[in-house]
Amino acid sequence: MSSNQTPIAIVGGGPCGLATALLLAQSQIPCVVFEKKLGLSTHPKAMGISRRSAEIFRQLGILEALYEPTRHLTDSPDACLNIFARSFTGEEWGRIPLTEPVSPLSPGPSFHCPQTLTEQVLFHALEQAAPGCVRFQHEVTSVTHADNSVEFRAGDERWTADWLIAADGAGGQIRHELHVVSDGPGDMGHFLNVYLRAAYGPHLNGRRSLLFTVLSDDLVEVFVAVNGDDLWLMHHFLQPGEGPENYPADKLAAQIRRASGFPEIPVEVLSVSPWVMSPKVSRHFRRGRILLVGDAAARMSPAGGLGLNTGLQSTHNLAWKLAAVVRGQASPALLDTYEEERHGAALWTLDHTNKNSVEVYAIIQAAVERDWPQVRELISHNGRAGSRLGIDLGIEYPKGAVVADGTDPVPRNDPINDYPPNGRPGSRAPHFQLEDGRSVLDLFGKGFVFLAAETPPPESAKYRSQVMPRNSPFAATYGVDSGGGVLVRPDGYVAARWRNLPPTGAIEQTLANILWLDRA
Ligand SMILES: Cc1cc2nc3c(=O)[nH]c(=O)nc-3n(C[C@H](O)[C@H](O)[C@H](O)COP(=O)(O)OP(=O)(O)OC[C@H]3O[C@@H](n4cnc5c(N)ncnc54)[C@H](O)[C@@H]3O)c2cc1C
Repeated sequence: MSSNQTPIAIVGGGPCGLATALLLAQSQIPCVVFEKKLGLSTHPKAMGISRRSAEIFRQLGILEALYEPTRHLTDSPDACLNIFARSFTGEEWGRIPLTEPVSPLSPGPSFHCPQTLTEQVLFHALEQAAPGCVRFQHEVTSVTHADNSVEFRAGDERWTADWLIAADGAGGQIRHELHVVSDGPGDMGHFLNVYLRAAYGPHLNGRRSLLFTVLSDDLVEVFVAVNGDDLWLMHHFLQPGEGPENYPADKLAAQIRRASGFPEIPVEVLSVSPWVMSPKVSRHFRRGRILLVGDAAARMSPAGGLGLNTGLQSTHNLAWKLAAVVRGQASPALLDTYEEERHGAALWTLDHTNKNSVEVYAIIQAAVERDWPQVRELISHNGRAGSRLGIDLGIEYPKGAVVADGTDPVPRNDPINDYPPNGRPGSRAPHFQLEDGRSVLDLFGKGFVFLAAETPPPESAKYRSQVMPRNSPFAATYGVDSGGGVLVRPDGYVAARWRNLPPTGAIEQTLANILWLDRA
């Protein structure tokens, strides 16, 4: 049997596999996505889209398609809450504000979008950009490294790829076959994620919220709004020894009717997805020609909604590097910086989401003990409240595909919530509005770009350059003088900064260093 060939194989057609494929397709790099399921997911998991993910979707040209159908859920900060109560409209224990939807520091809103819609929109954009590149019902097995390629089976076909991206999710096998060890607390609880239809929206008496955590004398259930009206998710905590077999649909529906406080409203259980909260970060994101992204690389606790968001940032970090390597514009050594940059970011995020989980568990424990004053106290002092700008926009890469300029990181008292916009190498290039109404972020995505305060650098085929408007906050925000500028990577991170005019040839030399062209 002859082998099919592709430069890049992506294993897994979940959101991270699809997003990687779309980023590559928009860079004219062909790839094939192999998905073992019959089609896209029909069960929504992730809902919370961070501002940084929204910026990535904006770059991909799909933000409006995701945001418009769902913006009513977050159109008021009053609705961006986790309300803790005896039932949807029962006695309230307290409320924790979630991320505010809009910030002047980003052109991307934080919003609430069912993962099913995220996958559909990514898939349709991919079908436009690279028709037929997703192969459903193709389970990848028998992955082996050959000399300069990766060989595997997909369904009953044999394939050879120059590079393989394992986007096969939390349960994916590829990292195990590569003997990649993971770090993290591991099993923190077993759950059923229940997707249900019940018309609660009109009965909430104005109590709008994205999350309702029901804590009553004998119940703990977490409801997540899917459309704010008649579609919801319910996270049910399993007791030791329990599994999905203990919860047939009629038993779940009865439990939902009781927990909701609306026993008379009919409930239809649409689907049930068991899952284990097992936060862990893979110790390696690259093994030779195989790269891990999404949950395959890092599995977060859902408290804080950062799993998909972390995965998307990793795909964004990886895609431009892989595209440069495939085009022969960078050494494969550039791909080591993917792990160097994203592993630390994932560990930091994991630590934050684990702390979130511990805080949530403390509230639940107090409820189980019916210590309601303590429940109220813990909710009112919960550390999850805050802008979360730091963890969202402030992820920095101290080393990797960046050239340090000798400056210290800008201090942050509260790294989770504080985000001082700055142009230090390794930071996300800060947003500001251009004269034509676009964001400066809209200049990124296609190759490297040099943002100059006043004086354009010499023309080069290796990067584009753009002089910033005189009255813009560019120089002050990015920390350069009138002759200076910054070199920004395709993923919108500052690669290098010159406070003053770069010496002749300095930008091209820096670019060669970043792409490992002179040191492979
Ligand atoms: C209950 C719950 C709530 C969550 N809420 C949030 C949230 O609010 N915000 C957030 O950011 N994250 C959230 N997450 C996390 C989020 O769902 C995941 O981070 C996200 O799905 C990861 O995407 P992925 O593409 O890496 O993996 P997946 O979505 O798991 O996709 C992997 C795909 O690979 C396929 N596959 C696996 N093995 C193979 C193979 N050998 N061959 C072919 N195909 C294969 C699978 O069928 C699957 O389609 C939540 C997770 C859960 C469980």
